[in-house]
Amino acid sequence: MLDLFGITSFGKYFTYLTAFFGAFLAALWLSLIFWTLRDIRSRAHDKLVHILTAILVAVLNLPGLIIYLILRPALTLAEEYQLTLEEEALLSQVEERLLCPGCGSHTESNWQVCAHCHTRLRKVCIQCGQLLQLPWQICPHCTTPVPGAPSEDQPADLPPITG
Ligand SMILES: [Zn+2]
Ligand SMILES: [Zn+2]
Repeated sequence: MLDLFGITSFGKYFTYLTAFFGAFLAALWLSLIFWTLRDIRSRAHDKLVHILTAILVAVLNLPGLIIYLILRPALTLAEEYQLTLEEEALLSQVEERLLCPGCGSHTESNWQVCAHCHTRLRKVCIQCGQLLQLPWQICPHCTTPVPGAPSEDQPADLPPITG
């Protein structure tokens, strides 16, 4: 009598346990689908890809999730955007960087000499006062020839820079 009661009780617990695990597995299955959907939405714009991914995980469950994790795009859209921004910033930095030929320090485009080692970087037009690059022998702004060009005998105004 007691034994029979024990078996019935065990059977009842077993039913509860099965129901509990069944509910747990169903919840896990649903959350896997939701997680995958949220993940693919952050990685791809294509609606068809979203649907196919959800079906893959809904049908194959965990193995489907593993396949998805292997095949999914490596970067999220936000990460991709961030990377593009960083690359663009780096490119413009390289383009804008003006290095002193004497000491390699950063210089500005409107400097006549390097602030760090006093190397001449640019010269000034005597007519219009615009900055000219050292090899130029004529001012591109006002067409005034630059004095002290190599062909002329006129001595240079500035003493040669040493060290
Ligand atoms: Zn310098
Ligand atoms: Zn000029």
